[in-house]
Amino acid sequence: MTSASPPVVGRFAPSPTGAMHLGNARTALLAWVHSRALGGRHLLRFEDLDTGRMRGWAFDTTRRDLEWLGLDWDAEYTQSQRLDVYAEAVTRLDTYPCTCTRREVLAAIQASAGAPHGEEPVYPGTCRSGSVNPERPAALRWWVPDETVCAHDALTRETLCLPLPAEVGDFVLRRNDGAYAYHLAVVVDDGLMGVTDVVRGADLWPATPRQIALQRALSYPTPRYLHVPLMTDFRGNRLAKRGGAPPLMALREGGEEPGRVLATLARSLGWETPEVVSAVELLPFWRAQLAVVQFPLPPQT
Ligand code: GLU
Ligand code: ZN
Repeated sequence: MTSASPPVVGRFAPSPTGAMHLGNARTALLAWVHSRALGGRHLLRFEDLDTGRMRGWAFDTTRRDLEWLGLDWDAEYTQSQRLDVYAEAVTRLDTYPCTCTRREVLAAIQASAGAPHGEEPVYPGTCRSGSVNPERPAALRWWVPDETVCAHDALTRETLCLPLPAEVGDFVLRRNDGAYAYHLAVVVDDGLMGVTDVVRGADLWPATPRQIALQRALSYPTPRYLHVPLMTDFRGNRLAKRGGAPPLMALREGGEEPGRVLATLARSLGWETPEVVSAVELLPFWRAQLAVVQFPLPPQT
C-alpha cells in the first residue's frame, strides 16, 4: 500500500450563461481526464451566482453535452442553492461595507497613485475608515491581509506572487445587489467539497493568489492547480459564448459523432489520436502529459 496520498477530487465548474462551445468542452474534457486518470472523484458544479447572466436552459444543455462526450460525474452542485454556506464564510472574514461606485474608485486611484495599472483597478481602501453613503446599497469587501501570496501551477510550472494590498486590493465578497462573488464561492466550495485538484482555464490563473489568500483565511487547504490553455479561433482570439463560437449542442443535434469531436479537441492539444476516440481512450495522453511535468502519478493497476 502506498501511504497517505489522499484520494483525488476534481471538478468542472461551468457558468451556465449559454451553450458550451468547443473551448468549454476542452476544459471540461481535461478536468474529467485529470480526475479519472488519477482514479479520483469528479464533481460538476454550476456557478450561477451572477443571476442576471444565467440562462435557465443552459444547465440541462451542459449536462447533455457532457454526457454526449462521455464525461460523467459523481455528484452535482449548484451554487445558487448554497447561499447559506457563503453567508457563513463571510462572517469568518474581516470585511467592511463599501458604497463606492466604479467611477469613484477610479477617481480615488487617480488622485492618489496616478493611473491604474493592470486590467482591474486596485481598490484603494476608501471605505476602510467606515464612512459609507447610507443612501446606497453597500457591497462587502474583504480587508486583505498585508501579505504576498504565491500560486504554483503543477502543469505550466509557473509561479505567480502578488502582494495583496498593492496588487489585488480589498476585493468584493458580496456585491451591493446581495450576490456573493465568484472568488468567495469557488474557495468555499472547493474547500467544503474536498477538491484536491483544480483543472481550469488559464484565464483564471491571475486570480489564483487571491483565492489562495481566501483559502488560508478560511482554513481550507490549497488544492493543486493545473491551468489549461484556452482554445482560440484561427485568428488567435479566444472562443467566447458571445463571440459566436459554434455551440457543442449544434454538433450534437446535427448528428455529429462525439468521438470525432473528442478527437478534434485532443488533436488541438497536439495529441496524436485516431480520428474517432472515446474519453477513456484519452486518459493515457493526459498521463503522458503529466509525466512530462513530473506530476506525481499514482501507480497504475
Ligand atoms: N465558473 C468559472 C468559469 O466558468 C470557472 C471557475 C473555476 O474553475 O474555478 O469560468
Ligand atoms: Zn468604498
